[in-house]
This record gives sequence, structure tokens and C-alpha cells, in this order.
Amino acid sequence: MLPHAPSYYAATANPFPAQPVLAGDEAADLVVIGGGFTGLSAALHAAEAGFSVMLLEAERIGWGASGRNGGQMIPGLRWGACELVRHFGEDHARRLILLANSAGDLVRGRIKQHAIACDLRHGHFHAAAKREHLDDMKRELDCLRRLVDYPLSSIVSAGDVRDFVASPIYHGGMIDMNGGHLHPLNYALGLAEAAIKAGVRIFEGSRVTAIDHGSPVVARTAKGKVTARYAVLACDTAMGELEPRLGRMTMGIANYNVATAPLSEAQARALIPSGAAVADSKFVLNYYRLSADNRLIFGGGEKYTPRPPADVAGFVRRYLERVFPQLKGVPIEHAWGGMVGVTFNRLPHMGRIGNAFYAHGWSGHGVLVTTLAGQLIAEAMQGTAERFDLFAQLPGRPFPGGPLLRHPLSVLGMLYYALRDRL
Ligand SMILES: Cc1cc2nc3c(=O)[nH]c(=O)nc-3n(C[C@H](O)[C@H](O)[C@H](O)COP(=O)(O)OP(=O)(O)OC[C@H]3O[C@@H](n4cnc5c(N)ncnc54)[C@H](O)[C@@H]3O)c2cc1C
Repeated sequence: MLPHAPSYYAATANPFPAQPVLAGDEAADLVVIGGGFTGLSAALHAAEAGFSVMLLEAERIGWGASGRNGGQMIPGLRWGACELVRHFGEDHARRLILLANSAGDLVRGRIKQHAIACDLRHGHFHAAAKREHLDDMKRELDCLRRLVDYPLSSIVSAGDVRDFVASPIYHGGMIDMNGGHLHPLNYALGLAEAAIKAGVRIFEGSRVTAIDHGSPVVARTAKGKVTARYAVLACDTAMGELEPRLGRMTMGIANYNVATAPLSEAQARALIPSGAAVADSKFVLNYYRLSADNRLIFGGGEKYTPRPPADVAGFVRRYLERVFPQLKGVPIEHAWGGMVGVTFNRLPHMGRIGNAFYAHGWSGHGVLVTTLAGQLIAEAMQGTAERFDLFAQLPGRPFPGGPLLRHPLSVLGMLYYALRDRL
């Protein structure tokens, strides 16, 4: 069995026994394809509802984005309240916001219920990289408060930024106590352990090579197959390999993280006094937080070509030192990358094809909302699709350009926005 992809998270993962490879023919009520947050949450919720569930993971549990991300629990969707109101009107926007915001309590509830040791911390600070971004945040918070009762968030003035983060580059920000941060791989492994206890049979090293969407659904691997009444496709950036219609809806963007050597307690407190996760308002954003052992875990820079930078640590260090000049030369002990699945409009893409439910394209906002998506899918399978439909009816469109031009055209668009960060 492959080890986890090397990262700070893999180096500090809680023990989790390797799961068997699928061999032979099996049957279940539900087959889940993909062992990230989405698939694990769907499997756990469905098993709790009485379904017999098998989960097939191509590599290891948490192998994809779920085991490699920044661990930032960012409330809501990529579209803010004002944008949602503009597109959907107040009533619809309110329902979407309330649903998306419920993901924070759901994740915290799971962590508590299953005693998942994943270094949960509270607070997410959105730092304004430009003065006008702070004005946008004020408008956004007004809009949010007009729509829903939301006492958890407040504006931080430029003068008070240092209570949250010791960087000279910000003009204020917005703190949201519905957010926070966690060790993502340990959260995924904790969900997997809970799922197994609830009766889910998990198989690792069991890549699904073909799926038949008929009734029943059949998912085939190199050594076996699972016949089931329902399927959940939870492969995020690899969805296109199983289902080309879904592959056209997202694009994978490589994103990189580093973990420094542990800082002293005093250094760590001075750097991020609030202990909150921080993400800034640039298009190619910097996002960072302190780990439980006082490392700075920093993500920054995107790469639109498939080949990773020769020196991932050096690539991210440039961004880190721009945000924290006082950390110039800080030792970096872990560097890793992963693929972020983005949709054209940055809203997630959920739905069903026959008896196969799918959910992907979290557009960098997946740590919280994926657990919710799993819950919504399990509800829909039990015949209550009202909340599932709210997300499934979000607008979406394929990336333009067809298989050959899709990537270059989208990259051009993103480079334009990345350039605007520098103006
Ligand atoms: C570097 C990075 C940083 C990020 N930072 C943040 C952050 O700080 N906050 C935030 O909210 N979001 C962040 N994200 C996004 C977030 O991690 C994802 O949105 C989320 O983890 C997606 O979960 P998932 O379960 O849908 O997909 P994944 O976690 O990617 O899981 C999909 C799984 O399916 C498996 N699979 C694929 N194909 C097959 C197949 N054919 N058969 C069987 N299994 C298959 C894969 O091996 C994988 O384990 C980040 C992403 C990356 C890459």
C-alpha cells in the first residue's frame, strides 16, 4: 500500500490502519467513490441512516485535497452575501447562506461526537490586501447582517490588524468566529474511523475505472466490482476520468503549502496573536495559520502548468516573506502541493445522474462545505431533497474551449486577475 503523499500532515497523521483492496464482486445499498471529506461524510451519514455502504478510494483515505489543504475552515461559499442577493434575490440568498453557514457547526459537531483529534481552533480572519477591499468587506458584512442574524463576524480596522496578524501589508479585515482551522488529514482519518464504526466498508488502493449509471449502479475496479442502488461520485479533480460530462465543469489548479520549523511560543503568539486562520483578499491569495506545534503553515502562489516548481519550498517562501518580512530565512521543514478543483463561476457543482449523486468544484472553499454536501446527499437518498436541491440548482457552466482549449483559455483569464493583485 502506498504511504500518504509526503507533507506536514502525513508526518503528523494519527494512526489509521491500511484498508483492504477490493477483490471480487460485492453488493451494497450505496457505493461511494473517493475517500476525501465529501465521500467520507456521505458514507458516514448514509450508514447512520441505515444504508449498507462501501467506499472505494483509489489511493489512501485523504489522499486528495482533503489530506493536503490549508486546513482553513472558511464559512460560506465563494460568493459573498451581496453577490448572492444580486443573482438570486434576498429570500433565496438567505436560504443559501443559512445552509452554507450551517457547515461550521456540522464539522465541529462531528469532531466532538467522534472525539477526532485534529487540532481544531476557532476564528477565521480575512485580511484586506487593498484599502478598497476593506470597504468591500464592510458592505459585505452589512449585507450579511441584513439577511441573517450574524453576530459572529466583525470588521477590524487598519489600526487593529496587529491584534490578529503581525504583517505590514494589510489595511484591516474581517474576523469570523464561525470559521477556524484544523489538521485536515486527521479530520479525514477521524471521519473514516467514525464511518467504519458506523458499518461502512472502506477499500483503499481501489481505483474505480468505470461506472455504469444504470439501475443498479455498477462501479468496477481492476480486481472487483460493487453493485449498488446508489452511487456517490466524490473524486473532485479526477471526476472527468470517470464521467467526462462532469470533468468539463471543473479545472484543477495546483496550489502549494509549506510548514516552517516550529516557532517559539513567543514568536508564534507575536505572529498571529489571535490564533485564527488568516487568508488575504488577493486573487492569488496567501493563506496561513499556526499548527498545534507552532509552525507557520503557509499557502501562497498558484501554478497553472501541470509540472510542479522544481523547488516548492522556495516557490512558496517568496510569498511567505512578502507577508512576513520578519521571517526572512525561516527554516522550512515540509513543502507539498495539491490540486484545487475550481468551477467556472466558483460555485460548487452538485447534482445527480440517474442514481449517482455527485459533488465537486469547491473552488478552494471545501474544508467546511464538503461535510455538509455529504449530509445533503444522504438526505436526498432518503427522499428529502429540499436542501440538496438548493445547492444542486446553483448555476454552473462548463469551462469554454472544449478539451484542448479549456485549460489555456482559463489560465489566460486567471493570469489577468493575478496581474490585478499587483496593481
Ligand atoms: C493545496 C490546497 C489547499 C487548500 N486549502 C483549503 C483551505 O484552506 N480551506 C478550504 O476550505 N479548502 C481548501 N482547499 C480545497 C479543499 O481541500 C477541497 O475542496 C476538499 O478537500 C475537496 O474534498 P473532496 O472530498 O471533494 O475531494 P478530495 O479530497 O480530492 O477527494 C477525492 C478522492 O477521490 C479519490 N479518487 C479520485 N478518483 C478516483 C477513482 N476513480 N476511484 C476511487 N477514488 C478516486 C482521490 O484519490 C481522492 O482521495 C485546498 C485544496 C488544496 C489542494
